[in-house]
Amino acid sequence: MADLLPVSDARAAVLAEVVAPLPAEPVPLDHALGRVLAGDAVSAEDVPGWDNSAMDGFAVRAADTAGATAQAPAVLRLASESRAGSPAPVSLGAGEAFGISTGAVVPAGADAVVRVEDTSSEGDLVRIAAEVEAGRDIRRAGEDIRSGDTVIRAGSVLGSAELGVLASIGVAEPECRRRPTVAIVSTGDELLAPSEPMRDGGVRNSNAYTLPALARLAGAEVVSVERCPDDPDATREAAARATRADVAVFCGGVSVGEHDHVKEAFATAGVDERFWGVALRPGKPTWFGTHGGGLAFGLPGNPVSAVVTFILFVRPAMRALQGAPADLDTVDVALASDVPRMERRDQAVRCGLTATAQGWVATATGPQGSHVLTSMLGADALAVIDAGVEPAAAGSKVRAELLRVPSGIE
Ligand code: AMP
Ligand code: MG
Repeated sequence: MADLLPVSDARAAVLAEVVAPLPAEPVPLDHALGRVLAGDAVSAEDVPGWDNSAMDGFAVRAADTAGATAQAPAVLRLASESRAGSPAPVSLGAGEAFGISTGAVVPAGADAVVRVEDTSSEGDLVRIAAEVEAGRDIRRAGEDIRSGDTVIRAGSVLGSAELGVLASIGVAEPECRRRPTVAIVSTGDELLAPSEPMRDGGVRNSNAYTLPALARLAGAEVVSVERCPDDPDATREAAARATRADVAVFCGGVSVGEHDHVKEAFATAGVDERFWGVALRPGKPTWFGTHGGGLAFGLPGNPVSAVVTFILFVRPAMRALQGAPADLDTVDVALASDVPRMERRDQAVRCGLTATAQGWVATATGPQGSHVLTSMLGADALAVIDAGVEPAAAGSKVRAELLRVPSGIE
């Protein structure tokens, strides 16, 4: 681990290996939350599809209401009705009013709607107590979307608004990028599942929960979560299985200890090392390699280091594999107070974010040790502080990775 790479170089090295996004596939809308659109969504329809009423009331000819007041109402003949989904079968003539519901088609011959509050009915007569101008309370065809409009760009993550808009233009199964498959392996003889009794030297396998959760939030499909002892053969077998996925993520066992077997196991599985060692705290012993089209990560085992390195290196790769911007979750924030720099290492500082008129302000969330997983509770973002001598000054802008944007839920 002679030369430690700056964070930005390590990230660029990872992204350089994502040469193309994964193939597209049709996805039913009700399963498409968090998926990434493969091509521009172009509407083949006007939305709304026809001129329709913004109110419950009566469709009329505006000219027939000229001069109408409460004292001197215009009296029109109730001749037909246009209901939502059932347009009137005939056109409206002079001196006529058609009952009309919100969203119903404005009948031919009518050019305005009088809201029901401004009317009173008696038998087949309707009294109009207020004059309306042509166009009143009519929503025009195509006012929201015109046929031929591009409404959502390729590479967009589908959230509730996107799903609604796709539905509104009649797209039932948008073409989305395939989700990257990811296999996650925690290594360590000491690891215990939450359900196992504690024993001397035992450590709860929290990474088996944080990393799959982060992968799903980034839009990946977690195909396996394994635990592997610090044994060379077992690690090799785990690496052979995990590298069948688009992305293999190991945590722990990637440092320089005698019981660290991950690098060797990846090599046996045909993975070529791209880098090992990032000038980052926490997260120095991060390892990355590739094989065919697959990516393989060896993340440090410390719970915070594993999360930080996943966020900085694995998540952008997952975004890029789906054809979304790799920096989808990156924002600029201003530091709330001075942060001492490290001379040779970038730091990932867990922060709470506050919205201000000048943008996001980031405040560190207490103790930052790489084993202090509770420092992630309440953290909205990781602010990346470049290596240097002078402290990063309060108010200065740094890049941060959002932790809480649940844009990739299945
Ligand atoms: P390693 O990277 O294997 O040297 O592990 C560094 C530290 O992280 C050790 O204290 C491990 O017990 C701990 N650790 C490793 N893997 C996990 C895990 N999956 N969950 C929680 N802690 C872990
Ligand atoms: Mg270990």
